[in-house]
This record gives sequence, structure tokens and C-alpha cells, in this order.
Amino acid sequence: QASPSDTSTETTGSAALLERARAVTPGGVNSPVRAFRAVGGTPRFIASAQGPWLTDVDGNRYVDLICSWGPMILGHAHPAVMDAVQQAAARGFSFGTPSENEVALAEEIVRRVDPVEQVRLVSSGTEATMSALRLARGATGRSKVVKFAGCYHGHVDPLLAAAGSGVATFALPDSAGVPASSAHETIVLPYNDVAAVEAAFAEHGDEIACVITEASPGNMGVVPPAEGFTSALRRITREHGALLITDEVMTGFRCSPAGWYGLEGEPDGGAPDLFTFGKVMGGGFPAAAFGGRADLMARLAPDGPVYQAGTLAGNPIATAAGLATLQHCTPEVYDRLDVVAHTIADAASVALAQAGVPHTVQWAGSMFSVFFTGDEVRDYDGAKAQDTAAYGRFFHSMLDQGVHLPPSAFEAWFVSASHDDDAIGHVLQALPAAARAAAA
Ligand code: PLP
Repeated sequence: QASPSDTSTETTGSAALLERARAVTPGGVNSPVRAFRAVGGTPRFIASAQGPWLTDVDGNRYVDLICSWGPMILGHAHPAVMDAVQQAAARGFSFGTPSENEVALAEEIVRRVDPVEQVRLVSSGTEATMSALRLARGATGRSKVVKFAGCYHGHVDPLLAAAGSGVATFALPDSAGVPASSAHETIVLPYNDVAAVEAAFAEHGDEIACVITEASPGNMGVVPPAEGFTSALRRITREHGALLITDEVMTGFRCSPAGWYGLEGEPDGGAPDLFTFGKVMGGGFPAAAFGGRADLMARLAPDGPVYQAGTLAGNPIATAAGLATLQHCTPEVYDRLDVVAHTIADAASVALAQAGVPHTVQWAGSMFSVFFTGDEVRDYDGAKAQDTAAYGRFFHSMLDQGVHLPPSAFEAWFVSASHDDDAIGHVLQALPAAARAAAA
């Protein structure tokens, strides 16, 4: 465990807020990773954000390499998104009726991701995967689900499952409160392991509703699919009458205008049946979606028998923010993301190499992570081989120098198109000392 090292930064305001928060909120946070448990120390309470910069309640500024875990692809408080949000808010906050921006956002997604003919809007990535799962089960009349260790799809009961003892055996709950009966419907397999998928389908093929996979995993750090893996999933699911759900909540509209699908292209044997989206498509507001072929989506209520709904689904402010964000994700934005990501990752790699810290940088388009292990990471076991204590020291040195990395070694580093040369320069300056701290 890394030792907390809030030495050179004034954090009394954040510390006081954490204490207040702990009294009324479990752990003081509304999403566990924010609590800094993996790295120790005091989570920074952020008061405001602009472009690539976060400012905490003590007045400290940080270059933001979390970007709200993906959504802030244009940077914070982008003027065009701000304008869209302010205009939408002036027209009212929530109608509970259909509204035009919902149509426009759906059209924008359908236009970008070829195999997606229809989408249903929801309010979080968790809801998107939960609903896609229900749709897959409803469409196939089967209940079992295959997922991969290290892939995160939100806190959906059957997807909060950990691998059982044998490859094709049923999974175990990965959280208290998940019933064994729910985990028993899930088969958890090692990522990038075609033989394991074949074996699971050989044993349970006619009971499996779907395989769900992150399009290119980012939740164990960035572990792209090995050549042919996505095509193998497509082939095997087709052979057994199961559906393929590709979760683009993190990669969607970030890796390319059409997400990971736009980079990798259509798998041999055809497109995935269902896609899930979130993060970027909400522009920092709660909007997410699941979608796919029109014939499948027609099984949803009100046209079909699979029930799904949401009071705030398609919220007018969230859809305005998402639409404005997508409309401003121009080719120049993706070019800039590439430059920013490569400049920072290359410099991190050089600094770590000079300090003698084993590491590996892995990519999915401009999405990247720096693993603190010298070996290529192909699955969750590989990711777990990292030196997490070294990452904790690295993280705290960067934080003390005004760069806010994800507070866990198992995450992607997110950049935005607003990371200008000043912000990048700030990161580059901080890296050598942080690398030496990691080596210590
Ligand atoms: N799917 C993926 C790939 C994600 O990365 C996440 C969140 O990080 C989710 C689903 C869940 O999304 P949310 O946190 O909006 O519920």
C-alpha cells in the first residue's frame, strides 16, 4: 500500500469536507474510486473546472487526466456545450414527454455507428448495460450471460460476478448483496482467451443469451482485444444463437467518431447485435444509450414485450449537452486527442524508463494507460501483476505537482482536446520526479 503523502499541498479544505461527507455519505463519496483507497491520502474536493484544469476547494490547480472518467472529451465548461446547456435549461428542466433533442441525439449516434439502427436513451452506463442484457435475454429466451474478468459494465447484479473455480463454471457474487442465483447465471472468462469462450459454449451454448464485452477494455487499464478476438466472439455467438453486446460506454465517440467499432471495423461474420454508450454522449450530464438492429430494438416496450423505462431518460439538458459535445467532436478534435495522448504517454514512458521503473503503455486509439509492469497485459491477471505501490507513489508525486491522475493503477488516463501546450508542459515537467518517487 502506498503511503499517503499530502505533504507539499494545502488540503485542509478537502480534508474538512471529507470529514463532513463521511458523516452523511458512506466513505464520504458517491462512487468508491473517488475515495483514494487504492492510493491513500485525501481525495481533492473540486470546486470548479475549466478546459484541462481542475481547481480544488483549497485553491490548488491540477491538470486533469481523469476528465470525469471519459466524458469531458472537449475539456471542462466548453463554451459551445455551455451555451447549449444554458439554452436548454432556460426552456425547462424535464418534461416527461418526448422532445426534439432526444431525436437529434439518437440520430447523431445512429449516423456515427453504422450497425446501430435505433437507440433507447437512458441515464447511466449501468442502465444501458442492464437494459441491453434484459433485451438479449428477452430476445433469445435464455438467461445465461458470458462476461470477461476485468471488464466493468456498471453495477448490474449479474455483471458484478467473479470467476468460479473452473473456466466454464458459474460465477460467484463479486459484491455483497448480489444473490448467488444472479451470479449463477453469469459465466466469467479470461479476456482474450478464445479457447475459454469455446469451452463455455460447448458446455452451456443453448442456455447462453449473450456475450457482453467492453469493445476494448479500459476498466482493468487499457487492454485492447487481440487480433481476431472480437471476430471469434462474433463467430461463436452466431454458431450458438447467442447475441453479442459490445459495451462502448468508455470507448464510444472517444477512440474515434464511431468509437472502438470505428477503429477496429466490423468483425468477420458481422456487427455486434447490441451496443451500449455513455460518458462522451452525455457531455458530462447523465445520458447513456443502448442500441442495435431495428428488429431487435422493436422487442422493447412499447412495441415489444421487454419492459424498460426512465423518468429522466432523454432529459432535455443532458441531451442538449450530449448533442453539442458530439457535434463538436470534429476530426481536428480527434487529431488533437492523439497528439495530447501520445505526448503525455511518451514522456511518461521516457521518465519511467530513466528511473528504471518497469512499465508498459497500452493503447486503444487515443485511450491509453500506463501499466506498472514490464510485461504486455492481455487480461486481468496480467493487469493484477502491476506494482500498485509504485503507482501510488507516482500518483501522489504527480498530485503534489498539480497533475490529477486516476487514483488507481487499473484505469485509463483520459485526456481532452482542451489540453493545450501549457497543460501538457505542466504534466511533462512533473513526470521525472514522479518517476523517481515510483522507483524509490
Ligand atoms: N460500461 C463501461 C465500459 C464503463 O466504463 C462504465 C463506467 O465506467 C459503465 C459501463 C457504467 O457506466 P456508469 O458509471 O455511467 O453507470
